[in-house]
Amino acid sequence: MEMNQIKQIQEYLKSVDAVIISAGAGIGVESGLPDFRGSEGFWRAYPLLKRLKISFEEMANPYWFENDPSLAWAFYGHRLNLYRDTTPHEGFKLLQEYCKRFEKEYFVFTSNVDGQFQKSGFDTDKIYEVHGSIHYLQCTQNCTDSIWQNKEKIEVDIDSFKALNIPLCPKCKAVARPNILMFGDWGWNSIRTNKQAKRYNEFLHKNYHKDIAIIEIGAGKAVPTVRYESKKITQNFSSKLIRINPRDYNLEGCNGWSIATGAIEGLKAILP
Ligand SMILES: [Zn+2]
Repeated sequence: MEMNQIKQIQEYLKSVDAVIISAGAGIGVESGLPDFRGSEGFWRAYPLLKRLKISFEEMANPYWFENDPSLAWAFYGHRLNLYRDTTPHEGFKLLQEYCKRFEKEYFVFTSNVDGQFQKSGFDTDKIYEVHGSIHYLQCTQNCTDSIWQNKEKIEVDIDSFKALNIPLCPKCKAVARPNILMFGDWGWNSIRTNKQAKRYNEFLHKNYHKDIAIIEIGAGKAVPTVRYESKKITQNFSSKLIRINPRDYNLEGCNGWSIATGAIEGLKAILP
């Protein structure tokens, strides 16, 4: 990182009117969350699925809730427990302190379903979880359009990779599933996420003629939802991207700066 570049970014972040904080799975690595990038990363976290040769794309699929709910809930229950037990790293607080100190209006745009932004203290009304949240449930049969908070404690036997209890829909008693957009998913209830999207669009509308910085952290190319959003914003708004990513740091034509580090190191350097 060049000193000159860092100074420029800091000045830019002081000068803008609003900030979009966008994040993919890479932001969680320094909190100790597993990196599912590539089959090897995923299978390191779930050795039994390696033996069964089930990839992340195959596992994160509504198919299992129909065909093997205890396997489906072993995967999601294990992740739920992991996210509940995880403390978000200091980078989250650094972002909040920056927004507060310089009175920046912000919005979080994330493909993560882990709820770590809420947990670290970001305003719930200023978070758009584009793929939903593991902390909410819906009915697999969509008997109603309810989405409810997941308050259940799910026990997982990690050796057999089976959930010992399975959350049910309180209305029809069918298996409940996380309110997450999965692969090949036609049953996802997007009502909660649509409400977040509406607030996000209001934020964009309000700041249409203003300068909006995008601080993008740990957004990969495998599921490029967050990177597309960054590109869209830099193309349609008066906006520059600060892309923090140790591997996929290329700006791909976006106006801005690229920081080839992890989240904490990058944020400590660039935040004024
Ligand atoms: Zn139901």
